[in-house]
Amino acid sequence: MAHLPGNYRVSQVLRTDRFHIPAKQASRYQTAGVFLGGDAAHVHSPLGARGMNLGIEDAASFARRFGDGMLAGYTDERRPAGHRWIELSERILSTVQSTNRFIQTFRNLAMRTIGAVPALQRQSASRA
Ligand SMILES: Cc1cc2nc3c(=O)[nH]c(=O)nc-3n(C[C@H](O)[C@H](O)[C@H](O)COP(=O)(O)OP(=O)(O)OC[C@H]3O[C@@H](n4cnc5c(N)ncnc54)[C@H](O)[C@@H]3O)c2cc1C
Repeated sequence: MAHLPGNYRVSQVLRTDRFHIPAKQASRYQTAGVFLGGDAAHVHSPLGARGMNLGIEDAASFARRFGDGMLAGYTDERRPAGHRWIELSERILSTVQSTNRFIQTFRNLAMRTIGAVPALQRQSASRA
């Protein structure tokens, strides 16, 4: 808690736990008549805020392909998207957790700048 920004004081701890963040992806999203989507297909850190969105996109892709009779291409369409976001969220995580002074300074400056400039905020949101 001492590392959190702001002036907080912990008066009572109700529960402590370890929060483990796996970064994994299924090698295939489909086999025979079984299809994977959402966290069953890809899990990564919450940084980047994409896990749920990716899962919804998987479901939308599955539904569209099911309707069009094109399920064979499901893995080829969705796996690269999952891979891209696992890589990006791992990169964000390592930047957030970095103890390197130079990276910390650059990171904090970049976040402050993006937070203060609406055009950069929009660009960053549209990338997500
Ligand atoms: C702290 C945190 C913050 C996050 N923030 C964001 C965010 O801002 N934006 C975003 O897009 N994503 C975010 N995510 C990711 C998002 O929560 C997940 O990607 C999403 O909930 C995954 O949905 P899912 O349905 O695939 O899996 P789950 O939500 O894990 O659902 C799977 C369900 O299956 C059930 N289940 C498991 N095994 C069995 C079984 N054998 N039989 C029956 N049922 C079973 C489980 O109980 C569960 O209800 C965040 C995740 C965390 C941890």
